[in-house]
Amino acid sequence: ERIKAEAKKKDILRLEQITKHFGNNKVVDALSLNIQEGEIFTLLGPSGCGKTTTLRQIAGLEQPDSGKIYFRDTLLVSPSEKINMPTHKRKMGMVFQSYAIWPHLNVFETVAYPLRARNVKNAEVKRRVMEILELVGLSGKEDRAGPALSGGQQQRVAVARALVYEPDILLLDEPFSNLDVKLREQMRVELKLLQRRIGVTVILVTHDQMEALSFSDRIAIMNQGKIEQLGTPKQLYERPQTVFARDFIGKNITLEAEIESVERGAVKVIVGKGKGQGTVLCARHNYVTQPSKGQKVVVSIRPEDIVVHASDGEADPNVLEGEIDALLFIGDRYECHIKIGDEAILGYVPRNQNLEEGSNVRIHFPLEGLSVWPKS
Ligand code: ATP
Repeated sequence: ERIKAEAKKKDILRLEQITKHFGNNKVVDALSLNIQEGEIFTLLGPSGCGKTTTLRQIAGLEQPDSGKIYFRDTLLVSPSEKINMPTHKRKMGMVFQSYAIWPHLNVFETVAYPLRARNVKNAEVKRRVMEILELVGLSGKEDRAGPALSGGQQQRVAVARALVYEPDILLLDEPFSNLDVKLREQMRVELKLLQRRIGVTVILVTHDQMEALSFSDRIAIMNQGKIEQLGTPKQLYERPQTVFARDFIGKNITLEAEIESVERGAVKVIVGKGKGQGTVLCARHNYVTQPSKGQKVVVSIRPEDIVVHASDGEADPNVLEGEIDALLFIGDRYECHIKIGDEAILGYVPRNQNLEEGSNVRIHFPLEGLSVWPKS
């Protein structure tokens, strides 16, 4: 059933082998991706990886050196065929980091602007502006001047202006970054609910992994102009396929290790040195092509997958002995910094668990949480 549903989703936008240079700097490198009708698709990556340039090429604000962009079945961009549909003919609305709220226009006229520019009749302008202001929760604020609005309201105006001529795709470039943390979270939920209601396809650019995880249906992690990995937020978090993806999303602990044996469905590794040394069984080892005894590897685990116990009870498999170096209370839990022999790791501990700095502990590494990677 789910496979059928997946198959039904159509592509709204297709990028094929897009390459873009600024001078000698290759900013987008043979990038291909498909965006589906009605989804929230996010380009996530560190500063300078080419996210904004990719978005600007989709919008028509920048032209690629080579490659093709299709909107449904229409070829929008193909430099080799001298095809480049102008921005205003692409049905895309945009919201940028600075929302460009004009001080001389009130809320109504700011939102009406794209319609006026397209010579829409007055009565129709009024109807559509009022409707979209209602949708973003700004009814009654039509006469306010832009600068008299709060940050959140200004952002809603920018979203309303981008949506007023009913674009097929809404492009968002770091739209929340000027807002404080609380407002940012609120606007994220609001915008996601709005998107679900109107069904517009959204392409978001951000370097904020929390934002990408919570807002998106699918995410492409970008690095140096290329896609490192593409998938749902859960897939990227739980099954990263590259070291970059693994380390870019969420916290991640790595330990040097050596393979002791390869068993059915799992790899047993020796971790730690000297006193802290022990063996653990790891379920996920697909990253190492041919694991073999004696091979030096790296094992990785998320801090929330580690379980820390007081030091009593009998020896279990996948348990190492350690000592708590520092215990930091961060509100919803403790950050527990633990020494295992010469290695330091981080685990999260529930706030109702009583542990003390300096005490000996046993650290359980669940089989499923451990993955084995090649030593870089
Ligand atoms: P950020 O989050 O910092 O904006 P980004 O991933 O969006 O990063 P881009 O803005 O696409 O990255 O920029 C990628 C690279 O291209 C950067 O090194 C940037 O300096 C360069 N670049 C972007 N626009 C231009 C331009 N118009 N002329 C020259 N270089 C540019």
